[in-house]
Amino acid sequence: MRKIMEQQKLAKPQAAQIAETITNAVMEHRLAPGSKLSESRMAEAFKVSRTKINQALVMLAENGLVKKLPNRGYFVSSPGVAEAKEIFAMRNLLEPAIIRGVITHANKADIKRLKAHLVAEKLAREQSNRRAIIRLSGDFHMLLASMCGNRYIDKQMAELCPLTCLIIALYDVPNTPACPEDEHDNIVAAIEAGDEAKAIALMQHHLAHIENALNLDGASDIDEVDWEAILR
Ligand SMILES: [Zn+2]
Repeated sequence: MRKIMEQQKLAKPQAAQIAETITNAVMEHRLAPGSKLSESRMAEAFKVSRTKINQALVMLAENGLVKKLPNRGYFVSSPGVAEAKEIFAMRNLLEPAIIRGVITHANKADIKRLKAHLVAEKLAREQSNRRAIIRLSGDFHMLLASMCGNRYIDKQMAELCPLTCLIIALYDVPNTPACPEDEHDNIVAAIEAGDEAKAIALMQHHLAHIENALNLDGASDIDEVDWEAILR
């Protein structure tokens, strides 16, 4: 058994793993919206065939994180202002339902996982680890979705959260945190107390807070992708 695990560890990454690495890079703002995803450069950096890179890109295109432009190849999506507003509108619809689901379905172990996540977020803030802060902020919302007892909502959130990170990368005022401090803690406290109305109101306030912090007239410069730095 150990041998099989060792072999798996040594194996080249599969398309799904490559797709996950790219998603994480987007979540951590290491991969900018609009970046060109050169298949040959990626094959070199991941040490896999171009076919495998292509499979990963097709997966990412299905959930909207990358876009294929005719004769130009793949690019990290760069949601426009209208799309950004649509994504927030969708999250405003889903997240109150997520809160209701979590209050109904979450057990003690789930609450414990949420609290452990808050500790990780706090630690990242204390260490001023911006990459971790951004990724953990998005993960918090996906963690809640995974506990709401509806796999379709969970799936939607797994698509919407990385796109929200792209929007924040594009339109955020520099050096402001992805999710305002303490708001996640207050949401978890209301969930634990079973106070549905309060938890939903806090979540709606939280989403409005994030959306209002965006500068929806802003634009960001697009640099060449340093794949080795992303994989480091
Ligand atoms: Zn948040």
